[in-house]
Amino acid sequence: MLENAKVEMNLKLGGNECLMNGVKFVFTYPVSTVGEKIYVSRMDLAKLIDPVLRPNFIKNAGDFRTVILDAGHGGKDPGATNPLGTEANYNFKVANRVKAQLAAQGFKVVMTRDRDRYLSLQERVNFANAIQENAIFVCIHFNSGGPAARGIETFTLSPPGVSHYGRDAIAADNQTRTGNEHDSANIALATSVHGSVLRRLQNNTFDRGIKHARFSVLSGVRHPAILLEGGFMSHSYEARLIENAKYQDALAKGIVEAIAKYRFAVGAKRPADISN
Ligand SMILES: [Zn+2]
Repeated sequence: MLENAKVEMNLKLGGNECLMNGVKFVFTYPVSTVGEKIYVSRMDLAKLIDPVLRPNFIKNAGDFRTVILDAGHGGKDPGATNPLGTEANYNFKVANRVKAQLAAQGFKVVMTRDRDRYLSLQERVNFANAIQENAIFVCIHFNSGGPAARGIETFTLSPPGVSHYGRDAIAADNQTRTGNEHDSANIALATSVHGSVLRRLQNNTFDRGIKHARFSVLSGVRHPAILLEGGFMSHSYEARLIENAKYQDALAKGIVEAIAKYRFAVGAKRPADISN
């Protein structure tokens, strides 16, 4: 089952967290045992583990040169705020760094907003869906929470039957959303971005994991899509990091190298001896 011998998995019985190559994933169902056997749910196997281990088997990832960057908030909506600045502004700064670095590598980059202006979530979705060619959609945000909350987390759309992170299941969770056609690509992209950003930030962050969510920007976009929360504006230490250009640049570099890696991974040829 686990074909890629280079991936190391670390599971905790009864737990919902799994480490794959040092990156934390949050499972929908806890890891359980029956007798001496360890069981992972079919949902987590199909929707989390398999696309991470075998990104070149993802059916409709598609080759792409276009990256849609969505700097969260803006205009009348500043997002999270602290004495140093607004989330909208930090999102925009990081997105601009990502844009410049991707463009230097030959990617075509489009931004949902190119200045400090308000866009509704639906307008962001409509903007992305108006792009006809293969593309990926990357939302950039910063978090806020209690004074101790810190670290980075990456969200992808919950597959049908999987609730929004931290919320009990509701009937609507069983509906298939536009972005669900890319469940596998979504998690592969999230894994790449989350892992690269973690490595770039090294000891300056905490791994909160890769999580499934039903944010409306993720549920309506018809391209593979993720949402990165690059740290907590409400955490006194992280607030100063987020303000720091070096931290913003490390985040951007992590996102950029992840996009290049993801593109290579989903585009890699399948082994010749495996029929499609
Ligand atoms: Zn935000």
